[in-house]
Amino acid sequence: MPMKRRLSKQRDTHITPRAIEIFDAMRAIRCSCDPDDCNTKCAGCKRRDDLDEQLMFELKLTRVVYPTIEDPLVRNPYPPGTHGHKTWQPDYEAQERWRALEAASREARARKSSAENSAEDVAATDTRPLQ
Ligand SMILES: [Zn+2]
Repeated sequence: MPMKRRLSKQRDTHITPRAIEIFDAMRAIRCSCDPDDCNTKCAGCKRRDDLDEQLMFELKLTRVVYPTIEDPLVRNPYPPGTHGHKTWQPDYEAQERWRALEAASREARARKSSAENSAEDVAATDTRPLQ
C-alpha cells in the first residue's frame, strides 16, 4: 500500500523580522544568466545563493538545506529531453518555507501600513485650524 507523504508543517521554523527582510530581498532579485552558458551564474543568482544561505541560518533550521526556499510557482528549469528535466522534482519543504515567509511578509507590511495610517490619523487630529 502506498504511503501518503506528509509534509512537515515547519512548526519549528523561526521567522524573524530579519528572515522577512532576507526573503523580501531575495524576491526582488532578477536573474540575468546567459541561457547558453550553464556553468556561470549571474550576479543576481550569486547574491540569491548568498541570501539563501543567510536565510537558512536565520530560520535556525536543524539541518543544512539547499535551497532554503523555492517559489511554489516554479517550473522545471531544464530543457525537455535532458537528464535534469527527467530527474527534477519540486522541493515541497522549501516551498512550504516560502509560503510561511510570504504570509509573514504580507502580515508585516499590513502591520506597518496600519501603524502608518494610525500615525496619520493622529497627525490629522493635530492639525486643527488655529483660532
Ligand atoms: Zn541568474
